[in-house]
Amino acid sequence: MTDRAPDEPDEIGDPVCWLSRVCPECGAFITGDPADGCPRCGAIPDDER
Ligand SMILES: [Zn+2]
Repeated sequence: MTDRAPDEPDEIGDPVCWLSRVCPECGAFITGDPADGCPRCGAIPDDER
């Protein structure tokens, strides 16, 4: 039986942190250094924020 609240955080770290690691071009998750660019399309995330 799964009886947990829908808004209860599971083991999700910090979704906000992920935003800078998601490719703005193709949406791939960049696991390495974002400065190296997207491993799929090569786009470099714009981290002007
Ligand atoms: Zn990409």
